[in-house]
Formats: sequence, structure tokens, C-alpha cells
Amino acid sequence: MKIVDVRVTPVYVPMRHPLRWSFGVEPGLTRCVVELVTDEGIVGLGESNGGRGLAEAIVEAKPLFIGMDPLDVSRLAQRFGFYRVTSEQLARSAQLKLAGAAIEMACWDIVGKMLGKRCGDLWGGIDREQVEFAAYVFYRYESMEREGGYSDPQAVADLTVELIEEHGFRDVKLKNGVLEPSLEIDTVRRMRDTAGARMRELRVDPNQAWSVETSIRVLRKLDRYDIEFCEDPTWGIEGMGLVRQSQPIPLATNMCCISFEQIPLVVRARALDVILGDMHFWGGPTPLMQLAKVCETFNLGLSLHSDRELGISTAAILHLAAAQPMVSHAIDSHLPEQTGDVITEPMVFKDGCLPVPTGPGLGVELDRDELERWHRLYLEVGERDEFQDEARSGWRPHLPLW
Ligand code: MG
Repeated sequence: MKIVDVRVTPVYVPMRHPLRWSFGVEPGLTRCVVELVTDEGIVGLGESNGGRGLAEAIVEAKPLFIGMDPLDVSRLAQRFGFYRVTSEQLARSAQLKLAGAAIEMACWDIVGKMLGKRCGDLWGGIDREQVEFAAYVFYRYESMEREGGYSDPQAVADLTVELIEEHGFRDVKLKNGVLEPSLEIDTVRRMRDTAGARMRELRVDPNQAWSVETSIRVLRKLDRYDIEFCEDPTWGIEGMGLVRQSQPIPLATNMCCISFEQIPLVVRARALDVILGDMHFWGGPTPLMQLAKVCETFNLGLSLHSDRELGISTAAILHLAAAQPMVSHAIDSHLPEQTGDVITEPMVFKDGCLPVPTGPGLGVELDRDELERWHRLYLEVGERDEFQDEARSGWRPHLPLW
């Protein structure tokens, strides 16, 4: 069997509410849907993070996968050359990694369909049919004009309970780094008080908004609220190491360690407790499976990161989480905030879990009408999935990120 063609469709899907984080505001998501076509008529689905630039990178990379047997999928990362990268190659490598993630995902979908096996069965064997997620709680605006919304501590605590009651989540992640620290500490206090026993684990993610000294001071104050871990309180591996050694809350990252070359530095600096692998930023399912083994070797925890996926990547994440016992924490998803999808049976949370799709390959099918609808919106609005947050407080924690 050979790959003979590729179709790439950029889409834009708005969020229900513009979501605030330390770098700005997320009103939607721009993604490319990839269809790999084989000479035997099997079509594999993939998805990755980006629009026009990514679509161009996939087309430019055609010589790396057109004519390839999809069964050679495990060698794709080598073909794409993103395992060993010098800093000069970084920008090109970043797009190639994102492109490779979608192509690899689609190859696995083809292989699964060809063999009549689910991707999770090819990735180590599915050992659970339900995968647990954490509620993803944001400070957010009510409208796309960035008015109103839920940016005061009690409103966020009430929103947490709404999400728990609607979707059955037990664990919760607060995306913070948005308000000044005293208000965010108050938010965490109110979340614990309001949700009570309905909330089990609580993690926070200020996305590098804080200096080392602010991180230490704030995390020491948050420790009384039993924090599962804090993602990226500050910038860089060295900074994370300084914070980790001066306060008791475990640290996680999806920002300072996003490739294998960084892992020796992370281990030597004792900078981290948990790595959050991203299906796109790490380059696809195979690098994430290898990451699981590396994490086991160095006693690092592993969970999976969300950067606003649609149903294709979510299916890949579900198969991987169900097949990798190293995925030890409830994983993230923006799905409850997204207004649409491109698959025929959009995913619905029950008891805080999503079921692993049951069909062969990734087990999801494209909804052509929805794909066209969100592609038309992409053509209308372009890649406006990130805005500056003009309503930020004047408090300057670390870097002028906005
Ligand atoms: Mg994060």
C-alpha cells in the first residue's frame, strides 16, 4: 500500500466565550484537517495546530510521505528530521513537527483501518474504555467584544461547580496568570470552599506569568489548598528548578520541556515533576509513546496537554491515554468551550470521562458539512485565534507578555 495524495483543510472554530490566559485571549481555534489517501482507497485522518503556515509545511513535506507505505509510520519522525534539532533549524522544525504530527496520526488511522484494529490496540493495548479529564476553568469574557463574563473570584468558583455538575468532572484545572496574585489566591480559596467534596484534585496554570520570587511566594500560600501541581509558574528550566526547590507544590510543564533534548537538563536541574505531552508539539503519537518510557525511566509523571483540539486529535489522545499506563493524571480538554467539531459524532463527557472510540484506526469519521462550514469561517475570519488582553491589570509579574 502507498500514500498517493494528501488533502489539507484549514478550519476556524469559535469558543463559546473568549478565554483569558497569561499571554492574551483565545476566541477560537485554527486547525488543519488532513486526509491521507492511499492507492487502495483507504483514507486516514489527521489534525494539527495551525492554519496557512501549517498547510504550506504539509504540502512542502510531500516528498517525505507521498509514495510511502503507511506501515512505515514509526520512521516518520526520522524522515521529518525533528528528533535532533539545532537552534537555527528551530522555526522550520516547529512547523515540520506540527505537520509530522498530522501525517503520523493519519498513517496510524490508515494502518488501523487496514488491520481492523483500534489505534490504542496498536499503541500498547487499550486497558480502559473511559479516559478521565479535568474540568478546564478559565477567567473568561462573556462576548467576543471582551465584555462582561467571569473574571472575579466567586464567578470562577461558581463556574467550576457548573462544569462539575454538567460534565461530572472530579478534577479541576484553573488557567490563571491573568489577575494579580492576591485575587488568584482568593479564586482558589473560593473554588475549594464552593465545590467542597465535589472537587478532588485542583491544579493551576499561570503559563510563566510569574517571576521566580513571585512563584515561590504565591505557591507557598496556595499550598494550604492541596494543589495537585502547578504548570509553568515561571520561565525556563533553570527558573522552574529554582521554584521547585523552594516550595512544596509539584511542578508540571507544557512550555519549558517540549522536546527530548531538554529532558537531560530538566532531570539535572530537578526542575519538574510532571511533563504534559502535546499530541502536536511533540510531533505525534510515536514521540509521545517514547516520551512515556523516558518519563518512567526518570520517575517523571506524564499527562496530556490540550491546546484546543478537534475530534480527530482528541480521538488520538484518547487512544494514547487508554494504552499508556504512564498517563497518570486526568487530562486536559477545551472541548466543553468549543462551539463545533468536524466529526460525525461529537464527543460528550459523562462522569468526567470520554469513551475511547470503538471503530478501527482512530475510530472517527469526518462530517463533510461541518468541515465545510468551519473552513468557510476560516476563509472569512482568518487565523484570529489569539488577541491581546486589553483589560489586564497593570500589575507586572515578570515579563511584559501583553
Ligand atoms: Mg499549561
